[in-house]
Amino acid sequence: MGAFDVVVLGGGTAGVHVATEVADGGQAVALVEAGLIGGESPYLACVPSNSLLLSAARDQTWEDAVARRTEVTGGLDDSAPARRLRRAGVTVIRGTGRITAPGTVEVRLAPDAGQAAAGPTVPLAYSDLVIATGCEPVAPPIEGLPDIPAWTTAEGLCSPDLPRRLIVLGGGPAGCELTQIYASFGSQVTLVEAEAALLPGEPAFAGEILAAALRRAGAEIYLGSRATKAERTPDGLTLALADGTRIDADRLLLATGRRPRLGGLGLDALGLEITPGMPLPTTTRCEVAGASGPGRVWAAGDVTGTTNTHASHYQASVVAANIGGQQREADYSAIPRCVFTMPSVFAVGVVPGIAAADQDEAEEDAEAGEEDAEAGRDAASPAVAGHGSGSDHGSDHGSDHGSGHGAAAADDRTRRMLRIARVPAEAGTQPQAQTAAETGAAAAVTAAAAARSAEADRNAAAAHGPRLITARASLGDTTRAHLGQDDLGCLELYADAETGVLAGAVAVGPDAASWMGEVTLAIRAKISVAVLADVVHAFPTYGEALETALRELAGTGGSKIFAYQQEKGTGPLSELDMETPEGDAIEQHQDVVEDETGAAARREVPLDVNEADAAEQERAVGFDDDDYR
Ligand SMILES: Cc1cc2nc3c(=O)[nH]c(=O)nc-3n(C[C@H](O)[C@H](O)[C@H](O)COP(=O)(O)OP(=O)(O)OC[C@H]3O[C@@H](n4cnc5c(N)ncnc54)[C@H](O)[C@@H]3O)c2cc1C
Repeated sequence: MGAFDVVVLGGGTAGVHVATEVADGGQAVALVEAGLIGGESPYLACVPSNSLLLSAARDQTWEDAVARRTEVTGGLDDSAPARRLRRAGVTVIRGTGRITAPGTVEVRLAPDAGQAAAGPTVPLAYSDLVIATGCEPVAPPIEGLPDIPAWTTAEGLCSPDLPRRLIVLGGGPAGCELTQIYASFGSQVTLVEAEAALLPGEPAFAGEILAAALRRAGAEIYLGSRATKAERTPDGLTLALADGTRIDADRLLLATGRRPRLGGLGLDALGLEITPGMPLPTTTRCEVAGASGPGRVWAAGDVTGTTNTHASHYQASVVAANIGGQQREADYSAIPRCVFTMPSVFAVGVVPGIAAADQDEAEEDAEAGEEDAEAGRDAASPAVAGHGSGSDHGSDHGSDHGSGHGAAAADDRTRRMLRIARVPAEAGTQPQAQTAAETGAAAAVTAAAAARSAEADRNAAAAHGPRLITARASLGDTTRAHLGQDDLGCLELYADAETGVLAGAVAVGPDAASWMGEVTLAIRAKISVAVLADVVHAFPTYGEALETALRELAGTGGSKIFAYQQEKGTGPLSELDMETPEGDAIEQHQDVVEDETGAAARREVPLDVNEADAAEQERAVGFDDDDYR
C-alpha cells in the first residue's frame, strides 16, 4: 500500500492546484484522476466556450472556430499537465478513487491503453485527504429524453458539428453562452427556460438585456416554459412544452444544472451522509465538517458548491495553506460570477432579492440552531436540502446547496456565502411565453428592466428593513459606448446602507469582467463608497459609468438616494457613516479653521481630500490580522 501525506481525489482545477502547492511545500502527494488531468475547465467548459465565443465575435467561420478550439484545448491531450505535476513531485495515479475507511483510499486503476477491462485496485494511506471531484450534469425528468439526440454542455463544446436546428434547454450562464455560440455560427437556436427570465439568480435587468442580445443574434427564446416531452422524429426530434408548443430540432443541448460529484466516493466510510445533489459541507477553512478521522479531510472546487474556476482555485490555495500548517479562512464576499456572452454579464457579492432571501435563511438558521441547541443535537451534523436555481455555470438550475441546521456559526456563514449566487429570483414575477424573435431597442429594455429592478429593491427593503441601496448607470452615457456605437449596457451597485460599503454589483456590457475588477476589490476590502466615489477612471472607458453610480450612492451626485432616504426617514448617507468626499473636505476645513483660531503659531494644514480618504479607509476597511492568516 502506498502511504502519502496527502491524497487528492480529482485532478481538475482545484485538485491540481492543491497537489502542486502541497508538493512544493515538501509533502508526499498522490493525485488520483479518473479522466483528464486539468478537469473540465481547460477541455470541456471555460476554455472551449470562451474560444468559440471569441471566434464568433471575430466573425470567423465555424471550421476556423473549431480548429482554434481544438488548438486551445490541446486536442484533449492531458499529457503536458500530467508531466508538469510529476515534475512538481506529485505522484499521478490514473484511476477512480473511493474512500474505504478513515485514512484509506482505494483506487481502481484505469485500464492500460488499448485494454477494455479496468485495471487492478491499489490502496493508498493518507494523513490529509482532499476531495476535489467537481460536479456533473443533471438531466431534468422529461418523458422521452433518453431516446432523443441530446448533448451535455461538454459535448456541445467539443462537437465538430453545427446542427441546423438546436434547442438549448436552460437559460443559465452555460445555456446563454452556448445559445450565442451556435446562433452566431448560423444554427437556428431555440432557448427554453423554465423560469421567467434568463440568469434566474441575478437581477432581472441582466437577463433581459441578454435575452435581447440573443434574439438579435437570431435565437428564439421561450421563458417561463417547462419542457414536458421529447420525441424522436424522422428528421430529428420534437420537444413539447407545458403550454402545448412543439419545437422541432436536430439536436437538444441540456444546460439544466449540475450537482456535486459525490456518488460512489464512499463518504459513508467517513461517517458522512450527504443528501443527493447537495455539496460537501465545509468550514471556512475548507475542511469537511463532520468527517471522522484518523486523517483530516478537506474539499475544494465545485464539490463544495462553488461553481467557477476562480473559486476552485481560491479554495485550493486555502486548503494547501491549511494543510501546510497555516490558519487560513476563505472569504466568499466577492467571488465574481460571469457570463462571457456579448454583452457579457458580471455579478459579484449580494444582489437585492438574494440579500433578502439570505437574511430570511439566516433568521431560519438562527431559529433552527436554537431549536437544535434545545434538543441537544449534534452541532456539526451535515447539511440538509436547500432550494432554488442558480446562476453560475455549475448550477444552471436546481442544483442548489443547503445549510446544515445547527452547524457551527462559521459553517453557517460559509454556506450562506456560498449560496449567494443560488437563491431563486424574487417570487412574484409571472412566467410569460415569448415566441417572437423580436429585438426591441436596447435602451427600452434597459429602462423597463431598471424600473422593475428598482421596484424589487423597494419591496425587498420594505420587507426586510433598510439594507441595500441601489444606484444604476447606463453604459450608453459613456463616450466609450458612443464610440463603439453600442448602448447595450447597464450596471447596478448595491451599497449596505448601514456600513457604507459596497455589498454587491451587477454589470452588463462589453467585457464587463475587466472593468468591474475594482468593484470586486472594493467589496472584498470593504472600501467605503465615499472613497470609491472619488476614484478617477480613464477616459474614454466603460469604467466611467461606475463614477455616476458611486457618486449617487455617496450622496454627491443624484437625488434618488436622497429621496429614498427621506421616504425611509433615514437621512442622508453621511449620517450613516457614509462620508462623502465633500463631507471629508468640510470636516478638514473645520479642522483647519479650528487650528487657525486656536493655535498661537499659524500652521499650514492642506485641504487634502486624499489624506482624509486614507484615514477613512483605515477606519472603514478595518482589516484585522485574522483576514490574512
Ligand atoms: C459549459 C461550462 C462553462 C464554464 N465556463 C466557465 C468560465 O468561463 N469561467 C469559470 O470560472 N468557470 C466556468 N465553468 C465552471 C468551471 O468549469 C468549474 O467551476 C471548474 O472546472 C471546477 O473545477 P473542479 O476542480 O472543482 O472540478 P473539475 O474540473 O470538474 O475536476 C474534477 C475532476 O475529478 C475527477 N474525478 C471525479 N470523481 C473522481 C474519482 N472518484 N476519482 C478520481 N477522479 C475523480 C473528474 O474526472 C474531474 O477531472 C464552466 C462550466 C461549464 C459546465
